[in-house]
Amino acid sequence: MPYTVPKLTDYSPAALASAADECIAACQSESAEVRSDGDLKIFRDRWMARKNGVLTQINDLWLKGAPKEAKREAGMRVNELKTRITELVEGTQVSADAGSLGPACVDISLPGIRRPVGAEHPVVKTANEIVAVFQKLGYSVAEGPVVETDYYNFEALNFPPNHPARDTQDTLFIAGQQSKPQRERLLLRTHTSPVQIRTMEKMRPPIRIVIPGTVHRNDPPDASHSPMFHQIEGLAVDTNITFGDLKGTLDHAMKALFGSSVKTHFRPSFFPFTEPSAELYVTCFICGGSGKREGNSPCRPCKQTGWIEVLGCGMVDPNVFEFVKDNGYDPKKVSGFAFGMGVDRLALLKYGVDDLQYFFQGDVRFLQQFG
Ligand SMILES: [Zn+2]
Repeated sequence: MPYTVPKLTDYSPAALASAADECIAACQSESAEVRSDGDLKIFRDRWMARKNGVLTQINDLWLKGAPKEAKREAGMRVNELKTRITELVEGTQVSADAGSLGPACVDISLPGIRRPVGAEHPVVKTANEIVAVFQKLGYSVAEGPVVETDYYNFEALNFPPNHPARDTQDTLFIAGQQSKPQRERLLLRTHTSPVQIRTMEKMRPPIRIVIPGTVHRNDPPDASHSPMFHQIEGLAVDTNITFGDLKGTLDHAMKALFGSSVKTHFRPSFFPFTEPSAELYVTCFICGGSGKREGNSPCRPCKQTGWIEVLGCGMVDPNVFEFVKDNGYDPKKVSGFAFGMGVDRLALLKYGVDDLQYFFQGDVRFLQQFG
């Protein structure tokens, strides 16, 4: 029985996937039956013809017939299916009748199957750009586990025992750990900072590292929150590192990332693992610091202030060095600075995207724009 496009009544993801699989299987089996140039033309027309080809019918029956709430999912599925069928049809060649000629009839002069070229995800691209700026300053990349112990995520970073971040409201803990001492309990790291301690345990000073990675917090997903997001942290430790080094390094990095005309501005802040601590602001790279867009309309990304907060930073708290003192980090002899930024938020600002969720839904129509 030749394949006919079914009318869909069930638009659940599972039903859409099974209908798509059936269609691909039918196309594959018809492709294998193509024995002559004539067959090939009929096969191509049957699947690809604009007027009443199988793909056109799928568009009409599945997409236009989809109920409103299923349109988005159906659109994604149909697009994937179209790409797959187009690849299959374009890759189909006239095959010899089984048994008569064998593999000798492969025509290597025919064009090959064109595979679509992928592109970097906008978050990965932004992370790579940030890492590259610091690599040029001599920083190396350090990584660490996403499932961490309380010790590395909190204790060694000078979080007091009752700090609110240690609450299940904010942190995702692995279940069934109550019998372990608190410092050994496992959790999904809430920041990339534990890698600072892990690296200092392994490497003696001086060090200069950047740490890109995923982190998790107990936040329901919305336009500006996600239970999983990306951070990049940096750490520099040496003798005689001052707050001036911190300012100079970050001012240079911001100019390299956002353009040489941006100005930087530090405001006092608090983090358990740095003292003193600051938040770094740059002049809004969308309105140039004026707070207004073209036609005097308000600039939303900077809330009309002309400044955008990009990261937190500070001088490493001597209490943090105490945890790695035995590896050469005597707080009387070394000093250092650390900084950390949210990559997803910077990517949102940079590309003018207004909903963080677009980055994680895997919708090819959205991601294609960055190819
Ligand atoms: Zn602005």
